[in-house]
Amino acid sequence: MCEFNHKLSTDKKISYITHSKFLMKLVFCTFLICLWGCINPARDKYSENSFFAMDTWMEIKLPYDTDASVQTELEAEIRRIENIFSVTLPGSSLYELNASETEEVQADGELTALLYEAERLRSLTDGAFCDTLYIISREWGFTTGEYKVPAADRLGELLDFVGNAEVTIVSDTVRRPPGLMFDLGGITKGYAADRIVSILKEKNIAYGIINLGGNIYVHGANPSNSENKWTVGITDPFDGGLLGTVAVNDTAVVTSGSYERYFEYEGRRYHHIIDSATGCPVDNGLVSVTVIADDSSYADGLSTALFVMGLDNALRFQSEQKNFEAVFITENKEIYYTEGLKDIFTCSKSGFTLSCVKYARNPQGE
Ligand code: AMP
Ligand code: MG
Repeated sequence: MCEFNHKLSTDKKISYITHSKFLMKLVFCTFLICLWGCINPARDKYSENSFFAMDTWMEIKLPYDTDASVQTELEAEIRRIENIFSVTLPGSSLYELNASETEEVQADGELTALLYEAERLRSLTDGAFCDTLYIISREWGFTTGEYKVPAADRLGELLDFVGNAEVTIVSDTVRRPPGLMFDLGGITKGYAADRIVSILKEKNIAYGIINLGGNIYVHGANPSNSENKWTVGITDPFDGGLLGTVAVNDTAVVTSGSYERYFEYEGRRYHHIIDSATGCPVDNGLVSVTVIADDSSYADGLSTALFVMGLDNALRFQSEQKNFEAVFITENKEIYYTEGLKDIFTCSKSGFTLSCVKYARNPQGE
């Protein structure tokens, strides 16, 4: 169980400092916008739409002559997706699935498709990505804002509903043990970005920058850059500023970080990425993981999973899968980036040690 577990007798004794993901993302969005401004003198030549959805700020930039109705349609698509996948919105398809008391539930087809994808990722990552943690995240208060450090025996009880839970999805029918509750927060924004990109492609819109609260996808070629690349910023997890950049196109750049949503209690930080083996926030020395991959849902799910795996297992996994690149930042200000990024990742901050990693590091030296 969590080595830092505290039994709390009454909530009145608790003094919490909360740090909202909303604020961090706002800072992140702001510096990204600045970055675009610096590299792109024609920055006012975008059709831009910023809005708040899925508990974060989002921004979509398209060619300036794009019909205004496209932005309206894309925002509506995000809100449609939120109405399916929100775990806290009464009436959403996921909310209804979680509330159902029967073992077998007929669910929305789009929901079952993403659940299937999430379950596939759970198996691929050996449970590091875990889509059945809602009951645990809620206990910590990450979905309600009523933060608390659960007692060890309470977490133990709840883990019975998570562990190696048997989930079967056949067509639109989901079968799971009663009491098990899904949370797709680790993959939904990535899925939403993929949906936006496919709409842009259907409409033959040549380029666009989709920033769904730090889940970035850069679509098409950047017309104001001789190499047609987009420069995407990676957040410094220590101060929320700009740590570095990657130059990419037609690619997702997705970060999971312990700084994104957390609370502090008795001088200790408890963040929102949970280890399904313990029910506790992951505590392995990583503070941020950025994944660069073609597919945004995959990048989103993986950034969460790699964070849970820890540096060595994540590097080994990357060297086996070979279908994504990643940047890892540790609490000791070390940056490890995979070999495919060697010419496209630039660190702009001092005070960090940088290592480009070709193969998995092996701490045992085997
Ligand atoms: P991200 O910011 O993409 O890393 O997603 C974090 C969110 O994913 C959390 O707020 C939870 O909703 C959910 N989550 C937490 N821990 C896990 C985990 N081990 N696997 C999958 N999703 C998780
Ligand atoms: Mg994720």
